[in-house]
Amino acid sequence: MSKKTRVSDRSIKYQMILLAGTRCMCCGKDVGKEITWHHLKPRYAGGKDSLSNASLLCANCHTHIHKYKWGDAEYIRLTRIILRNREEFTQRKDLYFSFE
Ligand SMILES: [Zn+2]
Ligand SMILES: [Zn+2]
Repeated sequence: MSKKTRVSDRSIKYQMILLAGTRCMCCGKDVGKEITWHHLKPRYAGGKDSLSNASLLCANCHTHIHKYKWGDAEYIRLTRIILRNREEFTQRKDLYFSFE
């Protein structure tokens, strides 16, 4: 992510917080204002700035997942956990995400 937070970034994060609250979608911890938004599919892999591609992570989990690259087994494993929690927290099955 770029250092400067773009307006669309803020709005996607805010929309996701409205849907899901401020729990980390990886570890489940509620970190309140410290929550950060994460592209499920990274921008370098063609991931979009969209709600479907958005998730919320605490700083620890966010740092952890970025030790891996898109396509790594661990990145995929963590992303599946995040997707499961995103569906549970948001109760939205229409937030479509594909690994393709
Ligand atoms: Zn976490
Ligand atoms: Zn991220």
